[in-house]
Amino acid sequence: MTGIVVTGTDTDAGKTAFALLFLTAFADRFDYWKPVETGDPDSLRLRRLVPTATVHEPLARFRDPVAPALAARREARVMPGAAEICAARPNTAKPLVIETFGSPFSPLTGDTLQVELLRALQAPAVLVTPSKVGAVGRTLTAVRAMTGAGVRPVAVALMGPPDDYAAAQIARHTDGLSVISLQLPEGEWTPESLRAAAERQRAELTRLVEGIGGEEPTPRSGARSAERGVRNEDPEPGGPGLPLRAPRSALRAPDDWPARDRAVVWHPYTALAGAADPLPVVAAEREFLHLADGRTLIDAVSSWWTILHGHRHPPLVEALTAAAGRLDHVLFAGVTHPAAVELAELILGSVPWTGGRVFYSDNGSTAVEVALKMAYQFWCHRGEPNRTLFVGFEGGYHGDTFGAMAVGRDPLFFGPFEPLLFRALQVPVSAERLDAALGANAGRVAAVILEPLVQGAGGMRMHTPQELRAIVEVTQRHGVLFIADEVMTGCRTGRLWAHSHSGIVPDLICSAKTLAGGMLPLAVTLASPGIVAAFDTPDRAKTFFHGHSFTANPLACAVAVKNWQLLASQEWLAAAQRIETFWRTRLEPLRGRPGVTDVRVCGTIAAVELDAPGGYLADIGQRVRQLAINRGVLLRPLGPVVYAMPPLCTSDESLVRLADAIRAAVTGTD
Ligand SMILES: *Cc1c(COP(=O)(O)O)cnc(C)c1O
Repeated sequence: MTGIVVTGTDTDAGKTAFALLFLTAFADRFDYWKPVETGDPDSLRLRRLVPTATVHEPLARFRDPVAPALAARREARVMPGAAEICAARPNTAKPLVIETFGSPFSPLTGDTLQVELLRALQAPAVLVTPSKVGAVGRTLTAVRAMTGAGVRPVAVALMGPPDDYAAAQIARHTDGLSVISLQLPEGEWTPESLRAAAERQRAELTRLVEGIGGEEPTPRSGARSAERGVRNEDPEPGGPGLPLRAPRSALRAPDDWPARDRAVVWHPYTALAGAADPLPVVAAEREFLHLADGRTLIDAVSSWWTILHGHRHPPLVEALTAAAGRLDHVLFAGVTHPAAVELAELILGSVPWTGGRVFYSDNGSTAVEVALKMAYQFWCHRGEPNRTLFVGFEGGYHGDTFGAMAVGRDPLFFGPFEPLLFRALQVPVSAERLDAALGANAGRVAAVILEPLVQGAGGMRMHTPQELRAIVEVTQRHGVLFIADEVMTGCRTGRLWAHSHSGIVPDLICSAKTLAGGMLPLAVTLASPGIVAAFDTPDRAKTFFHGHSFTANPLACAVAVKNWQLLASQEWLAAAQRIETFWRTRLEPLRGRPGVTDVRVCGTIAAVELDAPGGYLADIGQRVRQLAINRGVLLRPLGPVVYAMPPLCTSDESLVRLADAIRAAVTGTD
């Protein structure tokens, strides 16, 4: 077992008293660590009162007996965050009793709560609560709030006079959470008085340790708990509540994950034979990914272009937690829910038309499929079913499903499926070439599809707003629909939508990756009023027959609503501007250097194209990735194109590290 974390319903719930009794009973089996202390140090008290216990030095100690973040500020010092505290966890042979401060919802740093630390520590939590009037309500409030925040405690310790009624009520209303009662020594606390108290209550303490998986269950009469009305048997795996005993797999050393992964998992865009072991990521926050082996990497590619503000952005985590307490999922045919409506209103407020509709799905490829199907069905309703041709652009990418492959048509990625793909043309990103293609296929084209300003997967190829405008004008002149695939470009080009840089009005817009801040899968296809009108008929045969199990998933929608509220506040634009300015000053000078064929910047996206043979499969990509990992940066070059697209919260310091990693890749230095 990994140890236990001690938290409390209140600041003075009796956490230290609990730790004193617990360690007096089990000093041979547990060590003690309080990572951050304020005021009178508990570590010293523990050393004095439990001389046999191993007490580890705190990571930080502050003078004033106030919230640590405040105490730190008064000393002009920095309060360590959850990740830093986790990283400082002493390496011990015995499991740790980790005492936290305050309650789970006391501030940890200036902008996080202690519950983040509980989550990050990943050890079973024991909730300490004073046994006095109000114990049941106080405890249930804390347990429910903790559960909502993803850290359900494994046991409750009632500190003070035994209260069978309270213990039974707490167990009853928490699906049988293990509840123990502990009495503190009367009179002065000394090693002797603590020893006597611990000895008297050894059975209760042992029950607690067994309940959290500290040792194999031993036969016990259960008479005492039965008489107190407390359910203390181990819950069935998969039964109500969380298992008190962590599953066997969770207790295994993390080191063997990559090997286990190899045996059972098939990864996207990864060869089964000969691929490097996957990086085992166990946690993330802001721009950082934490690996099982203790390394931390800067997520320079925003986890495949999804993470927008940063990992576990607190407002989004809060929105998700609150939503999970209301509505998990519900079908979306014949049913609606507030988050879906609110989000649709927010999104439609950002597009260059009035009216129109939002069609929900759950990933970029399906958002594109929906747009293609809507476009074709639109023409069917208009009596032009012969418009079966779509036009995409060279270097375009629209997803991996069949329709998306047909309009993307990358010979390397989709070549084997060529015989199965429907007909689509590919033209260079050029208004003239498009004009010629549409002229040669008059009356046969349903829609033109383009990633506005930046063709992402094709190598971060960029075109200007003027070129985009010319392409859309040609499309409209030929009376063909224009689909803006903003699945990647949404929020990445320094504006909500890339197409808005050129003032064009698409007929359909696809959005996905950052839609819910990158936290949950969610996609939309936005249909302009002209498209909607063609479907707005009582003729049931003209229904758009399309839908997915998780259409408009309420959790994803709730997170997306919060994300869009943040996007309304302009703050994110400043962050995007800061990153763009950084690229322009730090990376553009690489242009013209030997081995560099091009440097491209658009919003928070920066790409450096190297002069290397081999296209997407170029060896250089793997080499650059490894060089960058050695420097603490996760890059994923698109063949010879080394690019970065970091989350908005990425600090200047991280940007410097990132730019240095790219520069090192260019010069080939380690
Ligand atoms: C990623 C991407 C898609 C596909 O989205 P998924 O969620 O991966 O299916 C479609 N279009 C563009 C432009 C993309 O970048």
